[in-house]
Amino acid sequence: MNPLTLFARRFVAGERPQDAVRAGQRLLAKGIKATFDKLGEDVNDAEAARRATDAAKELLRLIPAGLERNVSIKMSSMGQRISRDLCLANVSSILDVAKEVGGFVRLDMEGSNLTRDTLQVFHELRKRYDNVGIVLQAALHRTAEDVKEAVRRGDRVRLCKGAYKEPPDVALQDMAKIREAFKACAHLLLDGAPRPAIATHDEELIGDTIAYTKAHGIPASRFEFQMLYGLRKRRWESLVREGYDVRIYVPFGTHWIPYFYRRLRERRENILFVLRNLFR
Ligand SMILES: Cc1cc2nc3c(=O)[nH]c(=O)nc-3n(C[C@H](O)[C@H](O)[C@H](O)COP(=O)(O)OP(=O)(O)OC[C@H]3O[C@@H](n4cnc5c(N)ncnc54)[C@H](O)[C@@H]3O)c2cc1C
Repeated sequence: MNPLTLFARRFVAGERPQDAVRAGQRLLAKGIKATFDKLGEDVNDAEAARRATDAAKELLRLIPAGLERNVSIKMSSMGQRISRDLCLANVSSILDVAKEVGGFVRLDMEGSNLTRDTLQVFHELRKRYDNVGIVLQAALHRTAEDVKEAVRRGDRVRLCKGAYKEPPDVALQDMAKIREAFKACAHLLLDGAPRPAIATHDEELIGDTIAYTKAHGIPASRFEFQMLYGLRKRRWESLVREGYDVRIYVPFGTHWIPYFYRRLRERRENILFVLRNLFR
């Protein structure tokens, strides 16, 4: 195994769907849920988009009874950059399989050049499916409005800060401002959207969610926390002990470099982890 693969193992459950399912079973034993993601993005030919689509369907069928059939997909790997119709057809076929097996599909949000199109495809899909959810990124200037619309439409939203480097005319750059925007969006979702997912490792935002829901009588069963595989494991368990639902994003597959790079860019501690292993 190449050494980088060893380092990525902290963040990636393995190369095969069976590895991810095993990780999901280990989580379930601790009362933690999972969403599975076969890594891959930015596909530029229809054949590769078909393979990614088939892989998502296989994954949904492979997840055994007992584990929630919950997957996250990236539209750019389903043909979004080739044509909207192709992408819509591919994602619809995944949602059909999800419906068949009682599953749920979350559309991850990617760089801001895809946001508008991703939301349009999502709204199109919502006319026919209720087993699909979206991700909104608190850092983007447009997100406050998108959150209000999601509440009006009754959409299921995962709220995160946003992992992609965006210019100042598109997104907030200052962490304190991003946190304020996150809190405002989270409050709207917690007040009015079905089962919002608060996706962050940031203790200030986790604490704010707990305080807000307690103050407003919102029961823990109405929302969930989400975190990434390999990050803040002890906090997953303590939240579960405190009575909260926690879902871990479990990525797997061989195309892990862009995902791995985003995790390194986010946090110095992740880089230190890699360096420590490199020199061990
Ligand atoms: C389940 C999930 C799904 C996501 N999906 C998407 C998506 O579809 N699109 C997208 O753009 N982004 C997505 N993201 C990534 C997200 O946008 C952020 O880039 C990422 O979560 C980092 O921001 P953060 O709020 O978690 O904390 P950061 O901003 O990285 O960290 C802030 C603070 O959190 C605490 N903290 C963070 N990590 C640790 C740690 N390992 N140990 C101890 N304390 C820590 C520290 O207090 C730190 O100062 C997702 C994130 C999650 C959790």
